[in-house]
Amino acid sequence: MSGEWNLPWEGACRCGQVRIRVSAPPLLTMACHCRGCQRMSASAFSLSAAIPGEGFAVTQGDPVIGGLHGIHRHFFCPHCMSWMFTRPHGVEFVNLRATMLDDASWCVPFIETCTEERLPWATTPAMHSFGKFPPMTDYAGLVAQYAEKGSRPAP
Ligand SMILES: [Zn+2]
Ligand SMILES: [Zn+2]
Repeated sequence: MSGEWNLPWEGACRCGQVRIRVSAPPLLTMACHCRGCQRMSASAFSLSAAIPGEGFAVTQGDPVIGGLHGIHRHFFCPHCMSWMFTRPHGVEFVNLRATMLDDASWCVPFIETCTEERLPWATTPAMHSFGKFPPMTDYAGLVAQYAEKGSRPAP
């Protein structure tokens, strides 16, 4: 039932020059505790929502590549340099940094990854924790469970 997600969602970077729209429900929400996410998000962990590629659009501005400039493309606002989303290599989804959404209050991480690297005090209410990343074979089950039980925006 996509209706309960109250789509579409709008979002923007810190300065507002880049705007995005989400028109498909997330597959999963995640907190990542890896050192790379700690540095790039200037925080204890990154919070992201995996959005199917066809349900994600940049509606204003022209984000640029930043981060590691590697095969996983990290996109930033060219003006305020907010890390906005990542297009991971070889997959059909976009990892949107959930706090770009105009309303991110509903976004509770469903899984957390790289807990081996987490700051000792940094805990989340995620239902599933992984020391590194879930094995590829786990993702279908996690996505199905998230579709059932994942947190939703308030109606
Ligand atoms: Zn900006
Ligand atoms: Zn990470």
